[in-house]
Amino acid sequence: MKIWLDGGLQDIESARVSVFDHGLTVGDGIFETVKAVDGRPFALTRHLDRLTRSARGLGLPDPDHDEVRHACAAVLKANPVSLGRLRITYTGGHGPLGSDRGQHGPTLVVALGETTRRPDSTAVITVPWTRNERGALTGLKTTSYAENVVALARAREQGASEALFGNTVGQLCEGTGSNVFVVLDGEIHTPPLASGCLAGITRALAIEWTGAGETDLPLDVLERADEVFLTSTLRDVQAVHRIDDRELPGAPGPVTAKAMRIFEERSGDDLDP
Ligand code: PLP
Repeated sequence: MKIWLDGGLQDIESARVSVFDHGLTVGDGIFETVKAVDGRPFALTRHLDRLTRSARGLGLPDPDHDEVRHACAAVLKANPVSLGRLRITYTGGHGPLGSDRGQHGPTLVVALGETTRRPDSTAVITVPWTRNERGALTGLKTTSYAENVVALARAREQGASEALFGNTVGQLCEGTGSNVFVVLDGEIHTPPLASGCLAGITRALAIEWTGAGETDLPLDVLERADEVFLTSTLRDVQAVHRIDDRELPGAPGPVTAKAMRIFEERSGDDLDP
């Protein structure tokens, strides 16, 4: 397996980053997960734009899009897989222990993992912890994911694949690695970015392609929604068949199934050449 590090391809076994890299010591980094189909990255321009927005939010130098594109292409060429997940990680770099960032930085790593198509439907839980819709990191795709790791572990303990957060004012927000949509009276709604959720790329496509509205939704909408689905790079559109103790028999329901169909038909549209 070859990864991109320090401006070139390296063997994964011998590739090294500093133990004082700020991404490791204080979570001072950002990332993107990009789907790759038959060696072609999906929606890469959107991912690069979000990477830049995250970098600016953290005060990191703008990533060089040409380098990241080149790195993705090189990694995909060196590791052929039919369905892959590119992981782009960009951190504050390293310096002596306790130093501010930037002495030797930033660090760019591009790696590839194989992935599989997700099942059409899944179980989720809600967690008692809240997303902060007004935090310094809100909306940035940072490597500070420990909160999501804890919530996801709880979901797994309960036989679910995702945990959904509300925000500090009791509105529905997002999952640990996905955005959430609900169907009410045949209309599709998803929380607005002001809820504190990440500007998911799959979310944006689902809004464009289905006409879903961005709506403030109380967390308890999950108790009455006719259908619920998740979106993310690795799930695409995935129906929810259980939320905590509530079963949603027949998931995917008709509206979700239509969204899944539209996604399937159109998701070849934005593959890089
Ligand atoms: N929300 C969070 C917290 C995420 O980490 C992710 C993706 O990893 C998403 C939403 C979905 O975003 P995307 O559709 O760009 O994968």
